[in-house]
Amino acid sequence: MSERGPILIPILGDQLCRSLSSLDGVEPDDAVLLLMELDEETGYVRHHKAKIAFILAAMRHHAGDMRSRGWTVDYVKLDDPDNSGSFSGEVARAVERHAPSRIRVTEAGEWRVRAMLEDWEEKFGIPVEICPDARFLCDHREFGNWAEGRKQLRMEYFYREMRRKTGLLMDGDDPEGGKWNYDRDNRKPADPDLFLPKPIAFRPDETTRAVLDLVAERFADHPGSLDHFRFAVTHEEALRARRHFLDECLARFGDYQDAMLTGEPFLYHSLLSPYLNVGLLDPLDLCREAEKKYRDGEAPLNAVEGFIRQIIGWREYVRGIYWREGPDYAERNFLGAARDLPDFYYSGETDMHCLSEAIGQTLDHAYAHHIQRLMITGTFGLLAGIDPHQLHIWYLEVYADAYEWIELPNTLGMSQFADGGLLASKPYAASGNYINKMSDYCGHCRYDVKARTGEDACPFNALYWDFLARNEDKLRGNRRLAMPYRTWEKKAKGEKIALRNSARAFLESLD
Ligand SMILES: Cc1cc2nc3c(=O)[nH]c(=O)nc-3n(C[C@H](O)[C@H](O)[C@H](O)COP(=O)(O)OP(=O)(O)OC[C@H]3O[C@@H](n4cnc5c(N)ncnc54)[C@H](O)[C@@H]3O)c2cc1C
Ligand code: SF4
Repeated sequence: MSERGPILIPILGDQLCRSLSSLDGVEPDDAVLLLMELDEETGYVRHHKAKIAFILAAMRHHAGDMRSRGWTVDYVKLDDPDNSGSFSGEVARAVERHAPSRIRVTEAGEWRVRAMLEDWEEKFGIPVEICPDARFLCDHREFGNWAEGRKQLRMEYFYREMRRKTGLLMDGDDPEGGKWNYDRDNRKPADPDLFLPKPIAFRPDETTRAVLDLVAERFADHPGSLDHFRFAVTHEEALRARRHFLDECLARFGDYQDAMLTGEPFLYHSLLSPYLNVGLLDPLDLCREAEKKYRDGEAPLNAVEGFIRQIIGWREYVRGIYWREGPDYAERNFLGAARDLPDFYYSGETDMHCLSEAIGQTLDHAYAHHIQRLMITGTFGLLAGIDPHQLHIWYLEVYADAYEWIELPNTLGMSQFADGGLLASKPYAASGNYINKMSDYCGHCRYDVKARTGEDACPFNALYWDFLARNEDKLRGNRRLAMPYRTWEKKAKGEKIALRNSARAFLESLD
């Protein structure tokens, strides 16, 4: 240990990787790692119980793992009597305990925490070094350079840059198979006869059971259940979850990526986002393993390209947007949507079967796959004119993988069009027809997906036309909506009135 005191290295709850940038070049003997369970973090929104339990259990296991690798770890538990509950309060106490020569920390994943880290040097009177987060392929400057001067920031072009940069699925200078994107092959509807792999589940050990008890007691009023807790909480378990996906699901991931089935929350999805987002899995390694499956002839190109695109494309791209747009991105509301979030988002109790499935499984598992988030809970919010900020808080609360840098652009930009089209070229508005095509939900629903008006008509139908009519002044100029607006114009006056009345009656029933 240096005579001037150790380097204090705070490790945030979503920085649980062994090769974190703040550890680069530091010898274990010269440093103290500080992990803190904080009321500030568990309480800034009402996170799903399973989300809190997953993060705390992963933190406790990571602390043990780092100790076994020779690091000194100072761990503050949530119920330690002296825990001040805040980042800055706990770093202040650790500075007292260890008299460090300096602090070294990997940059935070969101604006709120970044502002705190930037205060530390002045607050504690010692040097504070903030290291870039090397877990991402594209740093802030590179994204800024890519975005500079572009009229539209479309993911597809960014993604091609990331393919070239990583060499993933490249054939020299060309994309493997001749096309960059095989999305058109990835839209098979749900088939109830699919043979679905059983999702891998991990039995909680003593450490995790202690966390589950703590969470059940302390966060009883938070949404969601702990009864189905199945998460990997160690590096080794996360690698097993990765292997399970690669061997059992990847080959069919592409075909059924957009499908939805009653009682089947997981289909062929990877369920790996919580591990990627806290650092238990490395995104690039995962993509290389997926590519290997293709090169070895064990998974088709449409599946592997579709999967890799989600990670080096969408995941990196939304992060770039989040940091580029600044902290007030969260306040945007292009369509002026102001309706309160209906209570059923927290109970799943609604006659709309698609919503009750997507929300029910969310409360059970802290999970819903992308199309459920986008085209069920998201599209309903968009059509019903729900305040995008309230939806943002809901998504941030209920998913085990939810962190603002990835959740906010997906919710506000992609799903709610609240940024006016920065991220999505048109709003993801759809009638019940889309849900009926991609799922078996409508067959189990009390509403009639074919009917457009009246008490038994699928609410998505009238809401869809009402959404277009209500927002005509803002959306009419969008070329991708030219066709629906032409169809709306051609409708007889009586039909238009009936559709809008039906939508109004339904929306009033929500209040
Ligand atoms: C409204 C809304 C909110 C969302 N909030 C989050 C969130 O808080 N955290 C989060 O990790 N993802 C979020 N997503 C993206 C996506 O829905 C989840 O990443 C995915 O459902 C996680 O499940 P999976 O691991 O089984 O994903 P898979 O379907 O197996 O996909 C593989 C991986 O690709 C990445 N990915 C897929 N889609 C996206 C996307 N649109 N943006 C960024 N990465 C993507 C994820 O890392 C995911 O693990 C959101 C999407 C929407 C529409
Ligand atoms: S009929 Fe409408 S509300 Fe019912 S499941 Fe289908 S899309 Fe959802």
